Amino acid sequence: MAEALRAVVVGASLAGLRGAEALRREGHRGPITLVGDEPHRPYDRPPLSKRVLSGEARPEAIDLPGQAGLDLTWRLGAAAVGLDLPARAVALATGERLPFDRLLIATGTRARPWPNPAEAALSGVFTLRNRDDAAALRAALAAKPARVLIIGAGFIGCEAAAACRSIGLSVTLVDPTPTPLASVLGTRIGRVVAEMLRREGVDYRPETRVEALEGDAAGRVRAARLAGGGRLDAPVVVVALGALRNTEWLAGSGVAADAGGVACDGLCRVLDRAGRPVDGVAAAGDVARFPHPLFPDGPVAFEHWGHAVEQAQHAARTLVGPPEDHGAYAAMPAFWSSQFDLNIKSVGLTNGADAVAVTQGSLAERRFVAVYGRAGRTVAAVSFDSARWLPAYAARIAAGDAFPPILGATDQGRVAPMDPGFPQRPARG
Ligand SMILES: Cc1cc2nc3c(=O)[nH]c(=O)nc-3n(C[C@H](O)[C@H](O)[C@H](O)COP(=O)(O)OP(=O)(O)OC[C@H]3O[C@@H](n4cnc5c(N)ncnc54)[C@H](O)[C@@H]3O)c2cc1C
Repeated sequence: MAEALRAVVVGASLAGLRGAEALRREGHRGPITLVGDEPHRPYDRPPLSKRVLSGEARPEAIDLPGQAGLDLTWRLGAAAVGLDLPARAVALATGERLPFDRLLIATGTRARPWPNPAEAALSGVFTLRNRDDAAALRAALAAKPARVLIIGAGFIGCEAAAACRSIGLSVTLVDPTPTPLASVLGTRIGRVVAEMLRREGVDYRPETRVEALEGDAAGRVRAARLAGGGRLDAPVVVVALGALRNTEWLAGSGVAADAGGVACDGLCRVLDRAGRPVDGVAAAGDVARFPHPLFPDGPVAFEHWGHAVEQAQHAARTLVGPPEDHGAYAAMPAFWSSQFDLNIKSVGLTNGADAVAVTQGSLAERRFVAVYGRAGRTVAAVSFDSARWLPAYAARIAAGDAFPPILGATDQGRVAPMDPGFPQRPARG
């Protein structure tokens, strides 16, 4: 009877596509319907803030590979607006209802908008999450604005700044914290990024908060007003304030979902409000919040490309089942970013780290591995143009090694732990 089972995947992006692919690989023979609120087939997001902005890649030429031969039914441009668990059906904005036996929730995240809706609606103000955002921003950049103001020096803000500089645009990057990437890498390592941005000609302004955006009579943004006085001319503004999880469509469904994500167990099974797994419903990717054996503080959610792929495959195995056969999802978090000619990679999680030590290379040369420790345990490693060391550190993190780790391969005379300098509270631009 397995042939008759119907699968629905909500979210037609990386986790959704890789999940559908894995459902087929695991033996799901019935129909699979892939629902996406964007009009596009699944495409790759990392190039959006890099090669698409710089004009090296066209936004319509970044489709994810592997879409052919899966025998999928597509419902693109159709948002899921509700989940009826007793009837086991997904409701679409079109009024259609899609019955399912197996459901994969992969609705990811969206860009956190500028907090003032009227200012966010000014023409020339952009966020950067999807292909249409990137195409619109790219068109604005191609018109050679006198300046681009980027609000938020996280990964996407820094990458957008690098892309703008690569096409010769003047860029101002502001953030309320003391360094770029402060909440992810800490200010000690963030200072290295600040130096690079400045050397590459970015007008980088730390500890600077934009209070309001000002428009002209035609509704075009023209300036940003700064907290504490000051004003910046800004014909183009990129709002890079992080992401919000797309869980609103699950309100009232009985599934445990909120701004922190869709709650799952270690097998990626979605939990109901009483904390019980819902039969035949799993979640994966940016939207999923789940317990990870390496992080004892409680459930985590990752916004990493590799995680979306691996967790979607795990969720598909759970859905085809039996779930208990393959154990809990425990993939090591890993992330990369490229900015200018710099390649940053990380393994593990820096959350709550109380120490950082350079184990290879040097901060001054901007080529190094920095290892993070928490309560005497190694929890993360970040490389700047030194990625070949990371697999060894990933193994040490997985093994729960002491901090600083003894690899026998350090090229430092002495490994000297430092305060990583994480800001007290996550601040937003
Ligand atoms: C600009 C940018 C650059 C990035 N660069 C990197 C990088 O360098 N390295 C890295 O590791 N990661 C990077 N990432 C993160 C990576 O792309 C994400 O982790 C990955 O896309 C997550 O995949 P996902 O399928 O879980 O979610 P998403 O890619 O967010 O996909 C979710 C999909 O579901 C759709 N959806 C939402 N709600 C509904 C609904 N109700 N009904 C139907 N469809 C819905 C969304 O529109 C979207 O298409 C980057 C992300 C962005 C935005």
